[in-house]
Amino acid sequence: MELTQLSSGVFELRLPIPWEDGRVNCFLLPRGEEVDLIDCGMNGQESLALIRAGAREVAGAKAKIGRLVVTHIHPDHYGGAGELTERDGAQLFLHRLEVPMVHPRYLEIEQLVQEVGYHLQVHGVPHAQVTELKDASRGIKQYVGVAAPALQLDGSETIELGTRSLRVEWTPGHSPGHICLFDRESGLLFVGDQLLPDTSPNVGLHPQSTPDPLDDYLTGLRRLTALKPRLILPAHGRPFDSVLQRVSDLEAHHARRKEQILALIGVEELSAWAVATRVWGRRADLIDRRMALQEGLAHLQSLSREGRLEKLAEPGRVTWRRPSSGR
Ligand SMILES: [Zn+2]
Ligand SMILES: [Zn+2]
Repeated sequence: MELTQLSSGVFELRLPIPWEDGRVNCFLLPRGEEVDLIDCGMNGQESLALIRAGAREVAGAKAKIGRLVVTHIHPDHYGGAGELTERDGAQLFLHRLEVPMVHPRYLEIEQLVQEVGYHLQVHGVPHAQVTELKDASRGIKQYVGVAAPALQLDGSETIELGTRSLRVEWTPGHSPGHICLFDRESGLLFVGDQLLPDTSPNVGLHPQSTPDPLDDYLTGLRRLTALKPRLILPAHGRPFDSVLQRVSDLEAHHARRKEQILALIGVEELSAWAVATRVWGRRADLIDRRMALQEGLAHLQSLSREGRLEKLAEPGRVTWRRPSSGR
C-alpha cells in the first residue's frame, strides 16, 4: 500500500487509476477512530479495499470513515463516493455546482451525449467524427458510483477534517465546482486537479463547463498564490512547494497558447475544430481529441472576451476571426 504520512494527522494514499500516470492521491485525516477523506479514487473493489485498509492503518482496527470531501466529480476523485456513503456511512461534501452535473454525466447520459454531439457539430467537427466523439465517454460511468451529498458547499466555508480546520477555496475552471482546501495554520494546500506539478490540467469549454473556464481557472491560480501556501498537495504527482514558479509557468503556457492561436488564425475565419487540429494535430485517442477541441475553445473564448478575436455565432455554426480593425 502506498501510504505516506505528510504531516501530523495527514496521510496520502495513492490509488490506482487506468489513465494519467496510473495514480490518484487521496488524503486521510484521522481523529480517533474516525477517518475523514479528501477525494476517494474511482469505483472499484481494489481501490475501495485500499481506502479501508489505509483507514485501519492510520486509525486502528475499528476505523470508520467520517467525512468525504470531493474536490470535483471526475471519476478518479468521486468514483468511490457511492460505495463509501452507502456501505461505510461516509458523509459526502461537494460544491453545489458539481451536484447537478452528476445525474446527466453518470446516470441518464443520453441527453448530455446529444448535447455534446450538437456542441461538436456547431464547432466544426466533421459529421463522420461527431458520432464517435460524442460517444467516447459512454464507458466512463463504470468507474463511478453516485452519492447524494450530506452538505453542499459554496466556497469560503471553514470545515473540520481530522484534527484540522480547512478553508474551502472555490476554484472553477477544470470543473465548475472544483474546490481546494487550505489549512491556514500549517500552510498545507490540497489542490485536487487545480495545480499539478508535471502537467497542465485540462481546462475546456463544453456543455457542462462555466462559460469562460480558462479565465476562471487563471483567477483561481492567482487566489491560491495569494494564500502563500507552504506545501501543495496535488491529486496527481508528488507534493511540491514552489507555488509561485508553478503558477507563473502555467500562466505563461496559456498566454503562449493564446498567441499561437491568434497567429494561426491570421486573416482566416476558422471553426474551433480547425484551430484545435492545427494546434494539437489529430489525436488518435477519441477522448484526447475531444479534449483538444474543448481546450482550444477555452482559449478562443478567453481571446474573444478580451476583444482580441471576434466570435461569430449563428444557429448551428460558430467561427472565430480577428476583429475588423486588427485584420
Ligand atoms: Zn479532474
Ligand atoms: Zn484527476
